[in-house]
Amino acid sequence: MGYRILLVEDEVGIRVALEDRLRVVGYEVETADNGRVAVERASEGGIDLIILDLILPGMDGLEVCQELRQRGIFTPVLMLTARAQLEDKLRGFAQGADDYLTKPFDFLELLARTKALLRRSVDADADETPRTYKFGNVTLDARQSTVFVDGERLSLSMKEYDLLHFFVRHAGETLARERLLSEVWNYERGMPTRTVDVHVGWLRRKIKDDARNPRWIRTVYGIGYRFSKA
Ligand code: CA
Repeated sequence: MGYRILLVEDEVGIRVALEDRLRVVGYEVETADNGRVAVERASEGGIDLIILDLILPGMDGLEVCQELRQRGIFTPVLMLTARAQLEDKLRGFAQGADDYLTKPFDFLELLARTKALLRRSVDADADETPRTYKFGNVTLDARQSTVFVDGERLSLSMKEYDLLHFFVRHAGETLARERLLSEVWNYERGMPTRTVDVHVGWLRRKIKDDARNPRWIRTVYGIGYRFSKA
């Protein structure tokens, strides 16, 4: 199965119980106890679903949702709330939550919603992109977020993976450093464009692309890079 869920809940009892039960049914689970941490973690990528409590210290669930959507992160969100008011439900959807569950809830109900949201997002991905890309001896499996060279699994950081995934999905396009910063790093103000070059250097080494005469990740002088599958 291999889906990774980010569970955001400040009440430790609920968080631990849910984490355990989700693990038992086969999900990988990461947790956060406040909204700020959740936004940062979700921004790094690799999360398939966020289960997000509405009432959190500091930044609440609605603000987390809003912030994620503003950053261009559309990971499905299942919002949990103790408040049963319709108003919250409507606000939640307006901020970009995909589904909503009122506490107290039955675990099987949570599981059913979780499965439905994951299925929906996997289907949506499938419409857009194939899940496996092959070039030379390199295979990128987008479903598992893994990359293999000559059948050996590479150890990539999240950003290296995201960058390579972005390249293969935009093969043949000239990609300016600024665009890569914006779409792969969710650009933070003042971030140097050299960030891109450093990561490209690491990636080339890992996928055994010759930096002096690259076959796949080619430099476009003065602009950025172009990924070539040929
Ligand atoms: Ca709470």
